[in-house]
Amino acid sequence: MKPNLIVMKFGGSSVADGLAMKQVLAVAAKDSSVKKIIVLSASKGITDKIIETCNLAVSKYDAAVRLIEEVRSHHISIAKDALSSANALDRAVTHINSIIDDFIRYIKGINLLSELTPKMIDHCLAFGEKLSTLIFHNLLIEKSIKSELAQAEQFIKTNSNFGKASPDFDKIKELINNPYGLLDKFGKCDIIVTQGFIGSDSDGNITTLGRGGSDYSAAILGFACSADEIQIWTDVSGVQSADPKQIDKARTINKMSINEIRELSFFGAKVLHPDTIKPAVEAGITVKVLNTFSPHEQGTLIDSSPELTPQIHSISVKKNILSIKFTFKTNHNSSRQAAEILSTLSNNKYATLASSFTESSMIVFVEVDDNAKVIMLKSLFRDCIISYGDMCCIVGNNLTAAEQNSIAHKILHSIQDIPIKFFLLGSNDESIFIFADAEYSDRLIRNIHSLIE
Ligand code: ADP
Ligand code: ASP
Ligand code: MG
Repeated sequence: MKPNLIVMKFGGSSVADGLAMKQVLAVAAKDSSVKKIIVLSASKGITDKIIETCNLAVSKYDAAVRLIEEVRSHHISIAKDALSSANALDRAVTHINSIIDDFIRYIKGINLLSELTPKMIDHCLAFGEKLSTLIFHNLLIEKSIKSELAQAEQFIKTNSNFGKASPDFDKIKELINNPYGLLDKFGKCDIIVTQGFIGSDSDGNITTLGRGGSDYSAAILGFACSADEIQIWTDVSGVQSADPKQIDKARTINKMSINEIRELSFFGAKVLHPDTIKPAVEAGITVKVLNTFSPHEQGTLIDSSPELTPQIHSISVKKNILSIKFTFKTNHNSSRQAAEILSTLSNNKYATLASSFTESSMIVFVEVDDNAKVIMLKSLFRDCIISYGDMCCIVGNNLTAAEQNSIAHKILHSIQDIPIKFFLLGSNDESIFIFADAEYSDRLIRNIHSLIE
């Protein structure tokens, strides 16, 4: 059946330059009988640059402004390449300048206070998505496509957890579906353009949904407006059997389950934000990952029902993971000690990736992004052994099927000459985790990938 409403999200590389923007236009303008909400990321590299600018602003105002000027010229040149009429270009440049001037004023404030909070960073991060959406909206106007630019903070309501805010689904649904809500704009247009990644809290402060969060914005919107389909348009042809930047022979997986995607993206495959698909797929909305630069390819369909044929779909790796080994005290209940360790970690905001314990010992894997947290870990647990390594995640169907030569068996065989330190069969039969020293992770991935080449 033909869809009525689609949410289409285009990532940073799809709006990296004027040519890419025109390609987005070609994809988005196809089939004018379908209503579309277009969610855009900031242009590639801009979010990183804004974070760098904010950090510089605390003590080096001039250097920060120099970076902002680079952001200004980058967007003016995107606008020049994308827009052909002088009118559209004039309008876009005026608007770009006003956003950049706001940004500079805000940076001045950070510098005067010599203080940078997550709330201030979120405020500045929003400039990236504001800039890309305004240029694209001008491109639609120039092509006489009836469209509206909607500011995401007006309807993506979140809590105040700046840097990784959680959506308030009830509020969002209300703001989208009420008589003067977002969907009302379709009375006047066929395409609504909005920013991914950003929202606002109940006091109106800008929040962000975490890095790569535009995928999540698309899923939230798709869910809240009961879209027929959510399309995640990126620079590769769907979810691949491994990161194509690492493995040349990586190929597209046409169909995957939500569990596989969640594990894969959580363990390093940045193609999709881990929180993205759950709300959408649970609501029965089709989610597809597609290639902006090769739109005729089938891409990947995310499905809620796993297939049964045992097979490996994809492999990813998360680097710089801490392994923490504990030896349990004798005469103490081991499950209680394990529970205490996990709750200490969670109370201190460590992200535990995997763990296992026996009567006498336990191993826990955590993701730590700064050195201070490693030092704190050592003070929380004095008698543990800590080391670094990479965690490899393999996803597929029926991986542990009790056949004589199960997939798990084949994987172990393919890596028999690699000194692995941990091997875990995921309880859903759709994932396997292997931990090894960083020097072996590339070989680990290549050997396992060779099983599906
Ligand atoms: P976007 O800017 O469109 O959100 P991202 O850079 O966030 O794109 O994600 C796409 C990138 O994810 C690809 O260019 C690819 O290098 C990387 N990637 C890592 N693992 C995978 C995988 N298994 N399948 C597809 N892409 C992957
Ligand atoms: N611009 C944001 C980032 O780079 C969000 C996104 O691209 O999904 O993380
Ligand atoms: Mg992304």
